[in-house]
Amino acid sequence: MELNDIEVGILKALQEDSRRSMRSLAEELNVSTPTISTKIKELEDMGLIRGYGARLNVDMMGLHTFVLNIDARPDKLESISKNILNMPEVRTLYELDGGSLMAVFSVDQLREMDRTLKELKGMEGIVGFGSSRVTGTFRDCGPVFLEGRASLDLDCYYCKAHIEGKPVKMELDGRKHYLCCETCAKEYGEKYRELKERSNI
Ligand SMILES: [Zn+2]
Repeated sequence: MELNDIEVGILKALQEDSRRSMRSLAEELNVSTPTISTKIKELEDMGLIRGYGARLNVDMMGLHTFVLNIDARPDKLESISKNILNMPEVRTLYELDGGSLMAVFSVDQLREMDRTLKELKGMEGIVGFGSSRVTGTFRDCGPVFLEGRASLDLDCYYCKAHIEGKPVKMELDGRKHYLCCETCAKEYGEKYRELKERSNI
Protein backbone atom coordinates (compact mmCIF):
# COMPACT_ATOMS: atom_id res chain seq x y z
CA MET A 1 0.00 0.00 0.00
CA GLU A 2 1.27 3.46 -0.89
CA LEU A 3 1.24 6.29 1.58
CA ASN A 4 0.02 9.58 0.18
CA ASP A 5 1.70 12.97 0.63
CA ILE A 6 -0.50 13.91 3.58
CA GLU A 7 0.27 10.68 5.40
CA VAL A 8 3.98 11.04 4.72
CA GLY A 9 3.79 14.66 5.89
CA ILE A 10 2.10 13.65 9.11
CA LEU A 11 4.63 10.89 9.77
CA LYS A 12 7.56 13.21 9.10
CA ALA A 13 6.19 15.87 11.44
CA LEU A 14 5.21 13.50 14.23
CA GLN A 15 8.57 11.76 14.13
CA GLU A 16 10.16 15.14 14.80
CA ASP A 17 7.66 16.19 17.44
CA SER A 18 4.88 13.85 18.47
CA ARG A 19 3.22 16.65 20.43
CA ARG A 20 2.51 18.72 17.32
CA SER A 21 -1.05 20.02 17.39
CA MET A 22 -3.54 18.82 14.79
CA ARG A 23 -4.21 22.42 13.88
CA SER A 24 -0.58 23.23 13.08
CA LEU A 25 -0.28 20.01 11.07
CA ALA A 26 -3.42 20.96 9.16
CA GLU A 27 -1.96 24.40 8.38
CA GLU A 28 1.37 22.98 7.26
CA LEU A 29 -0.14 20.31 5.05
CA ASN A 30 -2.98 22.49 3.77
CA VAL A 31 -5.85 20.25 4.82
CA SER A 32 -8.55 20.48 7.46
CA THR A 33 -8.01 19.56 11.11
CA PRO A 34 -10.56 16.69 10.95
CA THR A 35 -8.63 15.24 7.96
CA ILE A 36 -5.49 15.23 10.08
CA SER A 37 -7.18 13.56 13.03
CA THR A 38 -8.81 10.92 10.80
CA LYS A 39 -5.47 10.20 9.11
CA ILE A 40 -3.61 9.92 12.42
CA LYS A 41 -6.27 7.57 13.77
CA GLU A 42 -5.91 5.42 10.62
CA LEU A 43 -2.13 5.29 10.91
CA GLU A 44 -2.55 4.24 14.54
CA ASP A 45 -5.21 1.61 13.70
CA MET A 46 -2.96 0.17 10.99
CA GLY A 47 -0.26 -0.24 13.58
CA LEU A 48 2.18 1.97 11.70
CA ILE A 49 2.24 4.52 14.52
CA ARG A 50 2.93 2.28 17.47
CA GLY A 51 2.89 4.90 20.17
CA TYR A 52 4.22 8.23 21.40
CA GLY A 53 6.94 8.55 23.98
CA ALA A 54 9.62 10.79 25.38
CA ARG A 55 13.11 10.44 23.93
CA LEU A 56 15.59 10.41 26.77
CA ASN A 57 19.17 11.56 26.62
CA VAL A 58 20.71 8.27 27.68
CA ASP A 59 24.18 9.81 27.99
CA MET A 60 22.94 12.06 30.81
CA MET A 61 21.73 9.12 32.82
CA GLY A 62 25.11 7.55 33.37
CA LEU A 63 23.91 4.31 31.84
CA HIS A 64 26.24 1.72 30.41
CA THR A 65 25.10 0.53 27.01
CA PHE A 66 26.22 -2.63 25.27
CA VAL A 67 25.59 -4.00 21.80
CA LEU A 68 25.47 -7.76 21.67
CA ASN A 69 25.61 -10.10 18.72
CA ILE A 70 24.05 -13.35 19.70
CA ASP A 71 24.33 -16.57 17.71
CA ALA A 72 21.42 -18.83 18.36
CA ARG A 73 20.31 -22.26 17.28
CA PRO A 74 17.64 -21.71 14.60
CA ASP A 75 15.06 -23.84 16.41
CA LYS A 76 15.55 -21.81 19.59
CA LEU A 77 15.54 -18.34 18.05
CA GLU A 78 11.96 -17.60 18.98
CA SER A 79 12.16 -18.75 22.59
CA ILE A 80 15.48 -16.94 23.05
CA SER A 81 13.98 -13.73 21.65
CA LYS A 82 11.08 -14.00 24.07
CA ASN A 83 13.42 -14.57 27.00
CA ILE A 84 15.58 -11.61 26.03
CA LEU A 85 12.55 -9.33 25.66
CA ASN A 86 11.59 -10.25 29.21
CA MET A 87 14.85 -8.77 30.45
CA PRO A 88 14.03 -5.18 31.49
CA GLU A 89 17.45 -3.85 30.46
CA VAL A 90 17.05 -4.73 26.76
CA ARG A 91 16.16 -1.72 24.64
CA THR A 92 16.44 -3.05 21.10
CA LEU A 93 16.35 -6.53 19.66
CA TYR A 94 16.84 -7.36 16.00
CA GLU A 95 16.82 -10.65 14.18
CA LEU A 96 19.55 -10.56 11.54
CA ASP A 97 19.77 -12.55 8.34
CA GLY A 98 21.71 -15.69 8.95
CA GLY A 99 19.68 -16.29 12.07
CA SER A 100 21.57 -14.29 14.66
CA LEU A 101 20.26 -11.63 17.01
CA MET A 102 21.49 -8.16 17.82
CA ALA A 103 20.50 -6.65 21.13
CA VAL A 104 21.12 -3.31 22.82
CA PHE A 105 21.20 -3.34 26.60
CA SER A 106 21.46 -0.36 28.92
CA VAL A 107 22.30 -0.94 32.56
CA ASP A 108 22.84 1.27 35.57
CA GLN A 109 25.85 -0.55 36.96
CA LEU A 110 28.54 -2.53 35.17
CA ARG A 111 28.01 -5.47 37.45
CA GLU A 112 24.43 -5.70 36.18
CA MET A 113 25.85 -6.29 32.73
CA ASP A 114 27.97 -9.13 34.11
CA ARG A 115 24.79 -10.65 35.46
CA THR A 116 23.03 -10.16 32.12
CA LEU A 117 25.89 -11.81 30.25
CA LYS A 118 25.86 -14.71 32.69
CA GLU A 119 22.12 -15.08 32.19
CA LEU A 120 22.58 -15.14 28.41
CA LYS A 121 25.39 -17.69 28.69
CA GLY A 122 23.04 -19.97 30.56
CA MET A 123 20.21 -19.64 28.05
CA GLU A 124 19.48 -22.79 26.11
CA GLY A 125 20.20 -22.52 22.40
CA ILE A 126 22.65 -19.62 22.53
CA VAL A 127 25.82 -20.90 20.90
CA GLY A 128 27.96 -17.82 21.24
CA PHE A 129 27.98 -14.05 21.46
CA GLY A 130 30.15 -11.01 21.23
CA SER A 131 29.60 -7.78 23.13
CA SER A 132 30.85 -4.25 22.63
CA ARG A 133 30.43 -1.36 25.01
CA VAL A 134 28.96 1.84 23.59
CA THR A 135 31.20 4.80 24.40
CA GLY A 136 29.13 7.56 22.81
CA THR A 137 25.70 8.09 21.31
CA PHE A 138 25.49 10.12 18.12
CA ARG A 139 21.91 9.18 17.43
CA ASP A 140 19.60 6.88 19.32
CA CYS A 141 16.76 5.36 17.29
CA GLY A 142 16.43 8.23 14.85
CA PRO A 143 13.50 9.03 12.58
CA VAL A 144 12.75 6.87 9.53
CA PHE A 145 13.75 8.66 6.34
CA LEU A 146 10.63 9.25 4.25
CA GLU A 147 11.54 10.45 0.80
CA GLY A 148 8.41 11.77 -0.90
CA ARG A 149 6.31 8.64 -0.87
CA ALA A 150 6.76 5.49 1.12
CA SER A 151 5.09 2.17 0.68
CA LEU A 152 3.69 0.23 3.51
CA ASP A 153 3.52 -3.51 4.14
CA LEU A 154 0.04 -4.24 5.29
CA ASP A 155 -1.43 -7.71 5.71
CA CYS A 156 -5.11 -8.52 5.35
CA TYR A 157 -6.71 -8.76 8.82
CA TYR A 158 -8.67 -11.81 7.64
CA CYS A 159 -6.59 -14.00 5.31
CA LYS A 160 -3.21 -12.50 6.37
CA ALA A 161 -2.15 -12.12 2.71
CA HIS A 162 -0.06 -9.13 1.76
CA ILE A 163 -2.33 -6.31 0.59
CA GLU A 164 -1.38 -5.16 -2.90
CA GLY A 165 -2.76 -1.79 -3.95
CA LYS A 166 -5.55 -0.11 -2.05
CA PRO A 167 -6.93 -1.98 0.96
CA VAL A 168 -10.65 -2.37 1.67
CA LYS A 169 -11.25 -0.35 4.83
CA MET A 170 -13.93 -1.34 7.32
CA GLU A 171 -14.87 0.68 10.34
CA LEU A 172 -15.89 -1.48 13.30
CA ASP A 173 -16.37 -0.01 16.77
CA GLY A 174 -14.61 3.21 15.80
CA ARG A 175 -11.50 1.44 14.60
CA LYS A 176 -10.45 0.88 10.99
CA HIS A 177 -9.75 -2.65 9.84
CA TYR A 178 -7.87 -3.44 6.61
CA LEU A 179 -8.78 -6.22 4.23
CA CYS A 180 -7.34 -7.35 0.89
CA CYS A 181 -10.63 -7.78 -1.00
CA GLU A 182 -14.42 -7.52 -0.68
CA THR A 183 -14.75 -11.26 0.01
CA CYS A 184 -12.38 -11.05 2.98
CA ALA A 185 -14.15 -7.89 4.15
CA LYS A 186 -17.52 -9.65 4.12
CA GLU A 187 -16.31 -12.72 5.96
CA TYR A 188 -14.25 -10.71 8.41
CA GLY A 189 -17.22 -8.48 9.18
CA GLU A 190 -19.44 -11.49 9.85
CA LYS A 191 -16.85 -13.15 12.05
CA TYR A 192 -16.26 -9.93 13.95
CA ARG A 193 -19.95 -9.48 14.71
CA GLU A 194 -20.29 -13.15 15.63
CA LEU A 195 -17.38 -12.96 18.08
CA LYS A 196 -18.70 -9.75 19.53
CA GLU A 197 -22.17 -11.17 20.07
CA ARG A 198 -20.70 -14.23 21.73
CA SER A 199 -18.54 -12.17 24.07
CA ASN A 200 -21.54 -10.03 25.02
CA ILE A 201 -23.52 -13.04 26.25
ZN1 LIG B 1 -7.73 -11.20 2.61
